[in-house]
Amino acid sequence: MWDLSYAIPSLLLLILFIGYYFFLPRVPNKMNRTFIMLLLIEVTTIIFNLLSSWVDMHYMDFSKGVVEIINSLFFSLFFLRAYVFFLFTTTVVKPDFCNDIYFSMLKRIPLQLSIIMALTSPWTGLLYSVDEKGYHSGPYYRVLYLVFWLYIALSIIIVLGEGKHALQKRERISLYWCNTLLFIGTIFRLLAPRVLMMNTFCVLAVTILYLSFENPDFYLEKRSRIFNSRALRQYLEEINGVKPYKILAFAIHNYRDIRQIYGARQMDAGIDMIGSFLIESFPKMEIFYYRSGRFVILDGDDLELDLDTMKEKIQKRFDSPWNAPDAELFLDVSMVYIDLGNHIKSADTVFNILAESLEKVANAGSEDFIAIDGRDVISSEKETLIKRNLEKAIEQNLVEAFLQPIVDAKNHKIIGAEALARIRDDEGNIIPPGSFIPIAERNGRINQLGEQVLDRVCNFISQNDLSKLGVNWINVNLSPIQFMRQNLDEQLASIIAKTGINPKYIHLEVTEESLIDETLLLKQIENIQKSGFYFVLDDYGKGYSNLARLRKCPFINVKIDMSLVWEYSKHPDEMLPNMISTFKNLGFSITAEGIEDENMAWMMAEIGCDYLQGFYFSKALTMDEFVEKYS
Ligand code: C2E
Ligand code: MG
Ligand code: MG
Repeated sequence: MWDLSYAIPSLLLLILFIGYYFFLPRVPNKMNRTFIMLLLIEVTTIIFNLLSSWVDMHYMDFSKGVVEIINSLFFSLFFLRAYVFFLFTTTVVKPDFCNDIYFSMLKRIPLQLSIIMALTSPWTGLLYSVDEKGYHSGPYYRVLYLVFWLYIALSIIIVLGEGKHALQKRERISLYWCNTLLFIGTIFRLLAPRVLMMNTFCVLAVTILYLSFENPDFYLEKRSRIFNSRALRQYLEEINGVKPYKILAFAIHNYRDIRQIYGARQMDAGIDMIGSFLIESFPKMEIFYYRSGRFVILDGDDLELDLDTMKEKIQKRFDSPWNAPDAELFLDVSMVYIDLGNHIKSADTVFNILAESLEKVANAGSEDFIAIDGRDVISSEKETLIKRNLEKAIEQNLVEAFLQPIVDAKNHKIIGAEALARIRDDEGNIIPPGSFIPIAERNGRINQLGEQVLDRVCNFISQNDLSKLGVNWINVNLSPIQFMRQNLDEQLASIIAKTGINPKYIHLEVTEESLIDETLLLKQIENIQKSGFYFVLDDYGKGYSNLARLRKCPFINVKIDMSLVWEYSKHPDEMLPNMISTFKNLGFSITAEGIEDENMAWMMAEIGCDYLQGFYFSKALTMDEFVEKYS
């Protein structure tokens, strides 16, 4: 009366899977452990489904107790199966509430209650009963479906909610499919309970999970047995913060060139050999290949990775060549060691630090060895945080421009101001430009940042009567990166056009770095001057100065860098006064930066500076503070 023709092939298919799955190496993480549990429970459930169907059909050949035990176990496994599918969803989505102990307790309650029901059914008869006529379903038999549907519904809710951020679209679709198949399986079981079709649907659901999450090939470097960087990232996310770990990584010098010299095929063989060497030499550690000739050895079980011995072993092996099929590969490596101790930081940060430091040692002649501890991570985390705040400020148009007054050197009356960019962290505290401008210059955001500062300044000029504030112009800084932009003149003109202010109020500050490409410089300045802006040379004396080149540039003002000003105020000599008189002969007016006390102000006026800027007069103020103070 039971039809086993679907269950048996399903079971065989599943066993095939398990064989393949266990054959390849797997990262020891929670997702993989849950999947193994899922496979084992699935196999046992199908076996018990077959067994229980068999004893129910031939109940006369077995004692009542045997029939009951097998049925109770089968039903328990049936509930467990629903639960483990759900558990798999939570391990891949990792919703926040999963760490909550109440949720952990709550999610098991339906499972526990239904298993109690299954195990007590021989006495209560709630789920099923066995008498002299054989097996009968009990009055609460449908609980079987309710529990299953409950876990399916929970899985879908989690994917719909938290899954949106945690998973890729493809992965979400796979989980929907998996749960839909499980649901169809229960419907089949409900309509044709004796056909045992549900097992087939469960195996299909397992197949989907396998194909979209579990295929070991996803995590292996192509055609080899070393884990790839995807596996590394996942593993780091898994153990980071849970247990202490140490990393020893190394990079083959000049990998790209070497790959060209030896050829891709030889090099792939070499990478494979290095991988095998590492697996053999450090069998208890996890070995990863993090692309471009970079390997990572991770001691995730706190085996007290013995740095010196390991370093020596690796170095020694690289002293002799690797015998690829058609070539002997002579390779050099540099290493990176990471031990964060108790400074547990986000896995992303660790991954970035690792990638960056490997990049640093990847060239011959670069540093030979980098050791990284918790303090390095803190500074790198700070940078990540600043990056995030910078992105936010730029995306949401929140970059602020503070104003620092510039005064007349003779009477200390305000005459102009410099706009200085500011962004804020999540608490509203100000982040100084010294920490975000270099980042913005590296990632290209400096262009938008500069646009926003100019926009703030234009609005300020259009909304205030500058003459009442005593301000004749406002200096705006232009980074050398902005300066290289071909259409900078159009960009500046279009921002100005929005408020319709006269560009003569804006003095653009450029530094000497912008002067390196002379043809570009002159072309840019000429174009921008046509729109009516003036130019100022900032930070003179900070870097490499070339007076001959300066002469050609139509600056109206040169700002002496505060390092020169401070040096002069401590040890006055002839150099600065001479330089200033040369500038004045060339027709530039002079501003001294970094004036911090009365004496400095006096000295700089004495040697011919026209304008002064510094904390002695005022630090940079918000626009509102500035208006309040100077109107
Ligand atoms: P900078 O253009 O040379 O600006 C002057 C810097 O010196 C400002 O620092 C100012 O607060 C500081 N300063 C002024 N007087 C004194 C003083 O008496 N003592 C000391 N110790 N410092 C003084 P800030 O605001 O931190 O800006 C640093 C640099 O960041 C600027 O140097 C400029 O190169 C860059 N920067 C600021 N805003 C922008 C911007 O909107 N765009 C670009 N591209 N760079 C900017
Ligand atoms: Mg400046
Ligand atoms: Mg300056």
